[in-house]
Amino acid sequence: MSSALETLRSGFGGDIIEPGGAEYETASRTVLAGGSPVCVLRPKSVEDVQAGVRYAVDAGLALAVRGGGHSFPGFGTNDGGVVIDLGKLASVEVIDKERHLVRIGGGAVWGQVAAALAPHDLAISSGDTKSVGVGGLTLTGGIGWKVRKYGLALDNLVAVELVTADLEVVRVSEETNPELFWAIRGGGGNFGIVTAFEFAAHPTTDVFFGKITFPATELPTVLQGWADYLRTAPEELTSIVSFANPFAGGREAPVEVQVAFDGDDADLAATAIDPIRGLGTVLDDEVTLKPYADILEEGLVPPPGIQIVARSAFVDKGSVPEVLRILAEAGASERPPIVAIRSVGGAVSRVPDDATAYAHRQAELMFVTTTVGPPPAIEAAQPALEALWRTLAPHVNGAYANFLAAATEDDVAAVYPAGTYQRLAAVKRQYDPANLFAGNHNVRPESTE
Ligand SMILES: Cc1cc2nc3c(=O)[nH]c(=O)nc-3n(C[C@H](O)[C@H](O)[C@H](O)COP(=O)(O)OP(=O)(O)OC[C@H]3O[C@@H](n4cnc5c(N)ncnc54)[C@H](O)[C@@H]3O)c2cc1C
Repeated sequence: MSSALETLRSGFGGDIIEPGGAEYETASRTVLAGGSPVCVLRPKSVEDVQAGVRYAVDAGLALAVRGGGHSFPGFGTNDGGVVIDLGKLASVEVIDKERHLVRIGGGAVWGQVAAALAPHDLAISSGDTKSVGVGGLTLTGGIGWKVRKYGLALDNLVAVELVTADLEVVRVSEETNPELFWAIRGGGGNFGIVTAFEFAAHPTTDVFFGKITFPATELPTVLQGWADYLRTAPEELTSIVSFANPFAGGREAPVEVQVAFDGDDADLAATAIDPIRGLGTVLDDEVTLKPYADILEEGLVPPPGIQIVARSAFVDKGSVPEVLRILAEAGASERPPIVAIRSVGGAVSRVPDDATAYAHRQAELMFVTTTVGPPPAIEAAQPALEALWRTLAPHVNGAYANFLAAATEDDVAAVYPAGTYQRLAAVKRQYDPANLFAGNHNVRPESTE
């Protein structure tokens, strides 16, 4: 046994899962990626997290940090390195009832958060899925069902507790450490391991939520009308439109407009949602009043051998009509990707551009193309997908890190425009000069100037 591993074993209070152990097969993989790490550590305390980081450094092993394990590129595992899986640090505690301050363990998932806050009539706008991690989603954005009213998940962050590469435990907030606080709100896991998040939650009632569907033939008009309406719609309304779902008929699948109205007043909800109903021939309308915690979906784990390729971009106001025209055309093509378009703007765009490292505040829309299937199907779809993205390229900008299956230099450049990247790299040089935390859309410490 290596002396680094001996030192780890002597004081580690959590689980150490190694090849051959009963749990290794499940512990080594994430929701979307397999891996073969030397060991998976499941810390139970901040001291365990420090011990895990020390072990990775002493043993000279690559480190992967796992929150909810949902990253598309599979950042939450690796081959031949160490995985620190934060899943046992998942407490959710209301620490200040008046200010709605909530402290959440670094490995919690959003379903746990929504369920724990429901009895307090509180919520945090996060994502749409219960099993997605607070860690990964928040550190690079967080576009959830109340995004137009309350902004990104990271906009509601007040402080974090961070274990850094040199094993310090630092409280990071606007008051204690503004530059690092700027960086962790958008810069992903580049700066250390967040063992606890403190959010300002918002009061919530039940919400009007559900899907309204239209015929595929009405896709172009529904899309343009939807985007025009969302531009001035009440900020209580958040919406995602998706189409070309291969499991519902591909290019003939109905256009699905999901809406979430943040409030339980039926008249106000109807006033906000009716213009969407008026966009075309409604095939189905499933909008009902539901507890916020119930609108989050259970996450699906794809069966072995199924790949998911996700690619995203942002759209500014002037390019919206052309991008929607191109996407509608793609939706009617022979083998379309699944397209999901989210309205952002609202509270997201009111935060100053340089307040956080999330660099896409002025976009009106964020969209994702997703291709799902076994490798031959993914390969067959690739030429059309590349052609689509080439057509889109002059009209879109950037990429949303949380919906990117790849992490090439071009991807990193799309997530972080040059100015943001350089500012992040300066913080990286200070807190992680050896680039220990590299399992992410990586900001390298070297100066690029
Ligand atoms: C089914 C599904 C639904 C989704 N829905 C939404 C949505 O509605 N809105 C949205 O914005 N995004 C959504 N996403 C994208 C999601 O935000 C990203 O996949 C995100 O990276 C997942 O975070 P995670 O903690 O589960 O993943 P992980 O793979 O565990 O982590 C992702 C990255 O974050 C780092 N990380 C995680 N926790 C910590 C921590 N505590 N400290 C330091 N680093 C950490 C990891 O090292 C890794 O680099 C969805 C993804 C899926 C698969």
